[in-house]
Amino acid sequence: MNFLMACLQSVLNFFSKIFFGCTHSRVTRPFTIAEETYEVCLDCGKQIFYSAQEMRPLTPWEIRRMKAARAGELKVVPINSAVPRLVPGGQKPNIAA
Ligand SMILES: [Zn+2]
Repeated sequence: MNFLMACLQSVLNFFSKIFFGCTHSRVTRPFTIAEETYEVCLDCGKQIFYSAQEMRPLTPWEIRRMKAARAGELKVVPINSAVPRLVPGGQKPNIAA
C-alpha cells in the first residue's frame, strides 16, 4: 500500500511540475558574485535576484530597473538633487490676486 501511495505521489508531483512549473521551494543561501546578489533554486537552477540590504527577493519591477541601470539605459540619481525647483529659493512667485 505504501508503495502504491509513493507511486501516486510521484506521478502527481510530475504532472504538477509540468502544469504549474517549479515553486522554487528549495533554494541556496543568498550570495554575491560580480556585484549581483541572488539565490539559486536547487530543483530547476533558476537565479532568484535578492536584495542584500532588505534581505528579500527582488520583485520583477526591481529586477528590470536593476538591469536597465547596469545597461546604462537608466540613470539613477538621488531624488532630492534630481527634482527641479520651479521657484528659486527665497523668491516668491508673482501671483495677481
Ligand atoms: Zn525552481
